[in-house]
Formats: sequence, structure tokens, C-alpha cells
Amino acid sequence: MTEQDTKRTAERTVPKRYLITSALPYANGQKHIGHLAGAYIPADVYVRYLRAQKRDVVFVCGSDEHGTAIPIQAMKEGTTPQAIIDKYHVIMKENFEDLSISFDIYDRTSNPIHHETAQEFFTDLNNKGDLEIIESEQYYDEAAQTFLADRYIKGTCPNCGFNGAYGDQCEKCGTSLSPDELINPVSTLSGGAPVKKATKHWYLPLNKHEDWLRSWILGTHGHDWKANVLGQCKSWIDAGLQPRAVTRDLDWGVKVPLADAAGKVLYVWFDAPIGYVSATKQWALNEGKDWKPYWLDKETKLVHFIGKDNIVFHCIIFPLMLRLHGYIVPENVPANEFMNLEGDKMSTSRAWKLDMQDYIDDFIKKENGGPQLADCLRYYLISILPETKDSEFTWKGFQDAVNSELVSIFANFVNRTFVLMHKLTGGKVPKYHNDKAEPKDNNLIADIKTAKARIETLLEEYKFRDALFLVIDIARTGNRYMQEKEPWIKARTVDAHGAVTAEAQAEIDNCLHLCLQLCANLAVFINPFLPNTARKMCHLMKVVDKMLDWENAGSMKLLSVGYSLRAPELLFRKIDDSEVSYQVEKLKAGLEKSKMEQEKNNPQPAQQAEAPAPTSSIDTTKAIAEIQYDDFAKLDLRIGTITAAEKVEKADKLLKLSVDLGAGQRTIVSGIAQHFSAESLVGKQVIVVANLAPRKMRGIESQGMILTAEQPDGKLILVNPDSLTINGSNVR
Ligand SMILES: [Zn+2]
Repeated sequence: MTEQDTKRTAERTVPKRYLITSALPYANGQKHIGHLAGAYIPADVYVRYLRAQKRDVVFVCGSDEHGTAIPIQAMKEGTTPQAIIDKYHVIMKENFEDLSISFDIYDRTSNPIHHETAQEFFTDLNNKGDLEIIESEQYYDEAAQTFLADRYIKGTCPNCGFNGAYGDQCEKCGTSLSPDELINPVSTLSGGAPVKKATKHWYLPLNKHEDWLRSWILGTHGHDWKANVLGQCKSWIDAGLQPRAVTRDLDWGVKVPLADAAGKVLYVWFDAPIGYVSATKQWALNEGKDWKPYWLDKETKLVHFIGKDNIVFHCIIFPLMLRLHGYIVPENVPANEFMNLEGDKMSTSRAWKLDMQDYIDDFIKKENGGPQLADCLRYYLISILPETKDSEFTWKGFQDAVNSELVSIFANFVNRTFVLMHKLTGGKVPKYHNDKAEPKDNNLIADIKTAKARIETLLEEYKFRDALFLVIDIARTGNRYMQEKEPWIKARTVDAHGAVTAEAQAEIDNCLHLCLQLCANLAVFINPFLPNTARKMCHLMKVVDKMLDWENAGSMKLLSVGYSLRAPELLFRKIDDSEVSYQVEKLKAGLEKSKMEQEKNNPQPAQQAEAPAPTSSIDTTKAIAEIQYDDFAKLDLRIGTITAAEKVEKADKLLKLSVDLGAGQRTIVSGIAQHFSAESLVGKQVIVVANLAPRKMRGIESQGMILTAEQPDGKLILVNPDSLTINGSNVR
């Protein structure tokens, strides 16, 4: 331990309690390992370390279930927003459990406690005059009679020219946008061009608090926050802070608790971080504890773990909200940079990613998998955490980390120790003969003792990679020590009767005694990083998990002399070449598939005169080729209600229909005008092919098809459910 380490340890004061948060993942789809490495694994390592230190700590997280991306995803999947959040909340919660992320609570922002808490927060700020009301012109869809927030508006990206950019962000180039910046904006609800209409919203005037933000971030924390975090905050503040809207015209979210705010909800960035508070309340309720000290007592250390895309919310906006509300502000926000994958940025839209679910299915849930495979992923991700700059996940790198570090160094030391102990000391912890102690032994003991303080310092400073390397280094030292002591050679020194001499046995005993104590220490050290491994080691040593308490680290008395231990068992299996090549191929195939799908969904504009009547080619006598169930399953058939219908100008066969599919309105152009009058269709339920690629007819984008049946006289009738059904219901 260097002098500097000693000083840093001495200066540290232990807070009364800790509140640790991980960014709330958005419940609109699968989350990938880049997310996992950014906000969840580092937080989990930190929390497990604090728990082992017996500190008072609560670790909260939950699903972020509001914002326009949820109803948009529902439209994509042909279902309701509620069904979307219910689906992805469960998936994410289980994924985190399978990867041993040990939240004290994984809550969700649809929880009524959250709605109440977020409303209280808003009301308090509003009553105190901390919010401003500003009227502005915003895009409005006259057909759907609604304002078009964020993802309800699409257009061409001014930055890269991509024609499917959303009103809040271009998913192609990643640029943050405002709806006004989009070229040729269209409503994603009706497909029509939106108009501007006046609306009023509540704003948080960040500009009024610039002085406090500057001194708190760049002054108070100018030396203890990470450089990447400070840099981003500084450029935001220097660019000039603007008032930021905290409400939205939308029907999905936390309602604004004011009489004159009908049809408005809290903007998702405002309500989501309050999710940390409501999750703490729910946790306290479950545990019979008091949540208040965690958010009100200045002796609580609040730490937000996030990815770099969330820095501004957690370092500028949310702390200001907390301060105005009279709550504590974060002590640190150790945001990570991004993790790339096989030479490219991870991207959900291009399918260039490794979802947590895919890793779980391909490794943990396989026959030769189990929790050890969760630890293998944790190990590799911690070893490449993007703590100071972007890093890269490669499958070869994963294989090397597991095979040449975890297996060859860490597991190998534990395994050799156990094998030799069974062979040379009767499967029991041998005695340590003090009179036979050698300098090599004392050096090993000293290394173990100093490792404790060094790992501690690194963990307290959020340097998880370096801390893990130190643990592996101690295992490496153990291997070297055993190699030098060569107990298996000493065992050949026998007396006239063929028994090992007392002298040689004493040396063997000392070596294995120390190696076993080191194994026990390794379990304590590795526990925050690889909890399943630590527990498996406890099982091998026949000790209770309590041994993993941090105070035991550095002790050379963790295993009692004469205690018999279990037979050796491999801690990890190796990763095969075939597994690596399979994953690389799978990644490439996913990219190809997503390219094809994108081309299908954004086809080159082709001239399309008129839609054929949907039944024109049906002939009951003509056999249609047999299909498999999978072919049928590709159809997304839904119940919808026609809410409006009108003739398409200069097209005598076409009707333009608005159909309510539960998750939103669809525009469908149908060639049925000669069979139905527009008026007769309004209010009728129909079956809609909801996943038909959109096509333009007479300049109108048709987003699906309705089913009809042809009568003997050639007339068409609607196919509809025999009783009134919820819009969006699946047809199977
Ligand atoms: Zn773009």
C-alpha cells in the first residue's frame, strides 16, 4: 500500500446510510449488455461491497413506463401500452435477477405510489413558484385531434437525412431533435401533415439556477466527480441553460394535478427520476421501514449509477428538482461511457447488440450453464467497464477473459489447493508450524493483508476494473507461491518406511494452510464482483455465507485447523471456440435481417395507382398453396373500430378509414367504396391486418388492411366479431 493509499483511506468518513440508484430502464423493449455495463453491474458491485461492510444501504431501481415511446411501441406490436409495459417490466426484472443484480426493490413507474409522489413533487414546486407557465405553438394532428409530442411526429432528420426521425431523436444518427427541426413533419397517428396550435406548459427555469449549479458541480464536486461527467456538465452550463418543459400534451403518463391541465401529463424526464423516490417509499412500505431519512437526512450518501446519455438529467435537472423540493442531492454520479460490440456501436434498431435475454438463453439457461455463467459475463463486463472512455465487447475477448483469467488463474488456484489438500493433508486444513515459517510465507500473508485496503480504496472511488484486477492478481500471487513451494515435490521426501518426513510434512502443511486461507480470502474479495462464485467457494469450504463479511478480509484464521473440506469442484467451465463463432455468426445474421426489414418498412417510393379491392382475386374453387402454421403466425390480426370514413378524391373505389386499434389510430385506404357508403362504416368493428407494410395510395399512407368476405352476388360484407370486443384484441 502506498502512502497515498493510506492517506486516502484515513480521509474517508463513513456516511450514516447510503441510497444507491441505477438508471430506470425504459420498458419499451429488450435491454442489451451495454445498458448492463453502464448502470447496473457497477452499482451492484458497489452495493454488494457496502453490504459486506455492513453499511446501511438501499439499492433501488425500476421500469420507466411513461413517455411516447411506450404507446408507439404498442402500435408497432399491435397491442396496448399497458400490455407493453407489463411485458417488458417482467422481462427486465427477470433478466436482472438472472444476472444477479441485487436490487432491494425493482419497482415500476405505473405504481400508484409513483403517480402520487410525482404529482406531489410537481404540486410542491408549482405552489412555491418554482415553475413557469409558457405558451407556445406546437404541432397538432387535426384528424386525430391531438397534440403530437416527441415520437408522435416523424420526419426527415436535418442532420443525416434519415426520413424516419422522431420529434425527439433521430434513431439513425442519434441526434437529439425538437419537432420544429424535422423536415417535412408528419403525424405518426394519421400520416397527415400536422398544423401548429397554441398550447401552454409548465417549465423548470434552469437558467435561474445557473449560479448554484455551477458552484455545486464545478466547485464542490470539481475534484471528486469523474472527468467525463464534469466535462459534459460544464459544456451544458457554458452553453446557457434554458427553461425546460415539465409537462406534455399526451394521454399516457402521470396526469398533471391541476384543474386547468386536462389532457396533459408530466414529461417523462420529470417523472422518471422521481421513480427513485417512489421506489424507496415502496421498499420502506414492504420492509416496515421509514423512507424519509434516505431522501431528507444530509447524512445519507446518494449515488446515481447511469450511462453517459443520462448525465444532464442526473447532474443538472434532477438535483435541481431535489433541491427545490428540499431533498438531498447526489454525492456522486459515476456515469460510464459506452460499450461497443465487435468494432461497432451497439444499436437496437440495427440489431447490433447482445440482449441480456439472449445471453441468458444461450449460456445461463443451457445445460452446462447456471449462475456461474452469469458470473462469467459479469467478470468480462467489469474487466472492460467503460469507466473513462468507450470500451469494446468482443466474443473472443469474452472467451479469453473466462478461459485465461477466470479459469486459468483464479479457478486453477482454488482447484489445485483443494486437490493437494486432499492428497497431502488428508482433506483437512493442516496446522501452520510457526517455527517453520519462511520469508515467502510472510510475504504472501503481507500481500493478502494489504490487498484488502487497496481493493477497498478502489471500490470507494468507483474504480471497479482496477479493483477486480487486484483480486485476480492475488490469485496469481497464490499460484506463484504454490509453484515456488512445490508441495508435491516435498511429498517425495520419505523416510525408511516410505512415510513423508516430519520436516517435509511441516513445509507441506504450511504451504497448504496458507493457500487455503488465501482461498477463503479470495471468496471475500470476489464476492462483490462474482457473488455466485463466492457462494460456491463457501460451499466447498463448508462455511456459512457470513464468512463473506468484509471485516474477514485479510484474516489468516478464516478456516480452522483440522476442519475437513469438500472435494474439489471446478468453479468455471471454459468457453468453446464453437460458442464464440456461433455468437459472431448470430450477430451478423441479426444485422442482415434488420437491414431487410428496414428496406421492407421504408420502401423506395413506387408509383401505385390504385389499391385492388381486397377480395378481387378470391375464388373458392381455386386452391391456394398450403402453408405452415408459422406462415399464418406472421399475420398480426387485430380487432379495430372504424371511427371515420371518407371517399378519396378522384378515386372511385377508395375509402380512407380511420381505425381505432386500441393503441392508437390507423389510417387505412381500402378499395371498397363501391360496396359501402362512408357513413355506413363509422362505428363498425372490423378485423385488421395490422402488420402489413404501409403503402401509399393517392398520396395517403395506408397502414394496414381490413378483412371482408365476398358474397355469391359479388357484394362484399365486413368480417367482424360476433360481439363487441376491445379494440386491439388479437385474432387467432
Ligand atoms: Zn439523423
